[in-house]
Amino acid sequence: MTSIANWVYLLCAVLFILGLKNLGSAKTARRGNLLAMLAMLLAVVVTLLDQQILSFTFIFTGLIIGSAIGAVVAKKIQMTQMPEMVALFNGLGGAASALVASAEFFRGNGDLQISIVATICLSVLIGTVTLSGSLIAFAKLKGIMKGAPITYRGQHVINGLIVAMVLVFAIMLVLDPSNWKMLIGILALAAVLGITSVIPIGGADMPVVISLLNSYSGLAAAATGFVISNNILIISGALVGASGLILTNIMCVAMNRSLGNVLFAAVGSDGGSASGSTEQKQVTRYTAEDAVMMLDSAQSVIIIPGYGLAVAQAQHILQEMTEILMERNIQVRYAIHPVAGRMPGHMNVLLAEASVSYDLLYEMDAINDDFKNTDVALVIGANDIINPAARHKKESALYGMPILNVDKARTVMIVKRSLSVGFAGEDNELFYDDKTMMLFADAKKMVTEIVHALKA
Ligand code: NDP
Repeated sequence: MTSIANWVYLLCAVLFILGLKNLGSAKTARRGNLLAMLAMLLAVVVTLLDQQILSFTFIFTGLIIGSAIGAVVAKKIQMTQMPEMVALFNGLGGAASALVASAEFFRGNGDLQISIVATICLSVLIGTVTLSGSLIAFAKLKGIMKGAPITYRGQHVINGLIVAMVLVFAIMLVLDPSNWKMLIGILALAAVLGITSVIPIGGADMPVVISLLNSYSGLAAAATGFVISNNILIISGALVGASGLILTNIMCVAMNRSLGNVLFAAVGSDGGSASGSTEQKQVTRYTAEDAVMMLDSAQSVIIIPGYGLAVAQAQHILQEMTEILMERNIQVRYAIHPVAGRMPGHMNVLLAEASVSYDLLYEMDAINDDFKNTDVALVIGANDIINPAARHKKESALYGMPILNVDKARTVMIVKRSLSVGFAGEDNELFYDDKTMMLFADAKKMVTEIVHALKA
């Protein structure tokens, strides 16, 4: 049976890789998910049949409870809450790996190979850091904790000391595998390390934290795979670890920052300059009718979706507006910033839900040079990703992040409810630019009004 299981695992590994490849493009992402789901189902079924770990009554009870919780949560979750859910998933993945490795340790009863004990330490360390770090990320994203970095004197020294203590405990455990107290010590220290590593990271850096924790959860699973000698766990964990790291790197490049800077620089400690400095500045309030006059005379429009689009759930009515404009021979394209919204790919998923043609979606690098030849840049609920402070304001949390060149368009329309700041807490000078038309309203309400005015 074990050799059959290994053949099935090989098939699963191929399906996982094909799934990941398909997830690389919005067009094929659905297929990618289905392939990966099929691979996971096969892997779980074969493992359960092959290993006879527990009684099936126990397994099915867990399966029913877990599936019921998963189904209810998946049904209830809003698109805007996805990052929190991903953070929890990562954390639970890390916890599962740490628990399985710990169970294996206690099952061994002090009679374990050195390499296995070392791997158990690694799995417990990474898994527990992932759990507590993800819970902090969850609390920050949910607003339970403030998003701004929490810093204190000697922060890096304390984290360094914790890592050194973990190392000492791990060596002591390897030398004497019956000394279970060392494992408990590693677990407790790792839990603290997860918290102290994530609290100094705030605001605009959350995308990187999420994908990094995702990668950690994969590494913890791979380590546990070595502990229990399960090939598919090693392969799938390594794939998650590697893809999470690649995504982390993409995020860092998107923000023009190094990973070290994101993790250790506590960028955004002052919470940005907020709107205090804007009291003297004037903005003019425009209406949907004003917007339609402008749109009607335009030849090219670039739509910039942001987090507010997701909050307002305005994607369907936006698609209706796009169709009307295109019927009038106006060129319409969407500019997608890599960190628009609250998680990687957020805007692509949202627009796909409204059946926006993939041909209309342009990544930042592909469209940024076209803004200067564009009549209208229509910003829907976006803020940080169009903030020119990222180019010139050195003290800004956004400084260095590549932005969409919205300010280069002939006319800029910004749909949002107020002058309030975005995720990074930074005021946006573009609101006060002479060529900017501020359309203050909920995105869905304003786009609906624009559609009505276009049809009138
Ligand atoms: P921002 O958070 O910068 O701005 C969103 C704007 O939407 C707000 O200023 C808000 O203004 C407006 N808004 C909110 N609700 C509505 C509504 N119902 N109708 C209309 N407008 C609304 O979003 P961006 O997409 O520009 O930038 C993303 C930010 O999130 C970046 O800082 C990024 O680093 C960060 N981030 C990104 C992640 C990712 O992976 N994509 C993950 C985590 C964070 P007002 O209140 O006035 O309406």
